[in-house]
Amino acid sequence: MKNISQFRSYFPEIETLYNNKPLVYLDTAASALKPKTIIEAANDFSLKKYSNISRGISHLSANATELYEESRQKVLKFVTGQTGENKLLITSGATASLNMAASYYYNKLSFQDEILLSLAEHHSNILPWIELSKKTGAKIKWIDVNDNGEIELPFVAEKITSKTRVVSLTHISNITGSITPVKDIARLVHKVGADFVLDAAQSVGHIGVDFLDIDCDMAAFSAHKVYGPTGLGFLYCKNEIIENFPNFFVGGGTVDDIVLPPAIFSDSDLSINSKNKDKSDCRSYDFKLIYKSDLARLEAGTPPISQLITFGLVIDLLNNIGLKNIEIHEKYLTESLLDLQKIDGIEILGPKKINNRIGVVSFVSQNIHPHDLGQFLDDLGIVCRVGHNCAIPIHKRFAVSSSTRFSLGLYNNKNDVEQAINGVKEAQKFFLLG
Ligand code: PMP
Repeated sequence: MKNISQFRSYFPEIETLYNNKPLVYLDTAASALKPKTIIEAANDFSLKKYSNISRGISHLSANATELYEESRQKVLKFVTGQTGENKLLITSGATASLNMAASYYYNKLSFQDEILLSLAEHHSNILPWIELSKKTGAKIKWIDVNDNGEIELPFVAEKITSKTRVVSLTHISNITGSITPVKDIARLVHKVGADFVLDAAQSVGHIGVDFLDIDCDMAAFSAHKVYGPTGLGFLYCKNEIIENFPNFFVGGGTVDDIVLPPAIFSDSDLSINSKNKDKSDCRSYDFKLIYKSDLARLEAGTPPISQLITFGLVIDLLNNIGLKNIEIHEKYLTESLLDLQKIDGIEILGPKKINNRIGVVSFVSQNIHPHDLGQFLDDLGIVCRVGHNCAIPIHKRFAVSSSTRFSLGLYNNKNDVEQAINGVKEAQKFFLLG
């Protein structure tokens, strides 16, 4: 097994001081720190080899296109174990991907249909489906979680019916760190002929993920939570989904031809006939749009080119470290982080034991408001996240309005965890005595 601690120095932000104290970064679930060597290597592309892709015949454009597509394949292999065409759409982030996933159903659902979500979902995996429900009349049904916030197979079985058309669930909760039994759920969902959409924003980069093995129909995740750049995300889709996707986000790069109505041109020349306005006015059915037959149909406009090329290098780094090693390391630290529950007045929201969970640990204090606690910890150089963290339903399920969250990345070490636990203890003393 590789010694993960050697990779800590790849992340220079961890060396910065705040209030003369070394940074303890425990906010990876919000966004991960970036590895310096990768950013530098990627800068080389931006400064010396940059060009738009796919739209030029220049050597620069050809080279950029090759690097871009190579990176797409690296990412695809990272999440499916395979390469291939027409499976991984590039978006601006998990939120964009989930909106896109919901848009697939705009012309496919009606008021008789049902969409299943769980109480453990992030708002980015709730709101797009609620908007879809408003547009189509389809009903949203909520899958409950147990008292540890876990989605259990029987809870899904209880809600699924022949009317279910799509089930969209988080792979790992951004509040409880609980891992959903997605393979069993996918089987159940497919039994009634529905689709299974996976929000993999918190799983990719932390545990081994294989969308083919899970057998989900679509899966969404962001690069910035996996040590990569912001403004880049992915929507993995099965081939039949790609083929049936409506043309909802269109523009440059998506068509092979636009057949214009003959009336748009004058008889004598090929310019728009301004004198004969009526003839040049058109309805949508007068046009014939010849869309591309591959993924390009769904990726309008200039994509995040340097971001994807950078992310390809991040994937190389993660492969070099080994995801299994990352998983073992984070599990080891999570076990220590769960000692938070030994502090008087602290309650963990989520599984109390290490099984079926990762290092996203949210908790509440009986005595301190999360905002006060977050401020206190920040003064100690401990970066965490407080509030509802874009997951109001699960907070309501736990009968609290907000929480404090520590979340781990591959750069964290035992000392970070000890600092965090001591910080909470100090806060308890300060606020109780103060
Ligand atoms: N789903 C989950 C479970 C998340 O944790 C997040 C980010 N907190 C998102 C979706 C949305 O990701 P992004 O903000 O990168 O679009």
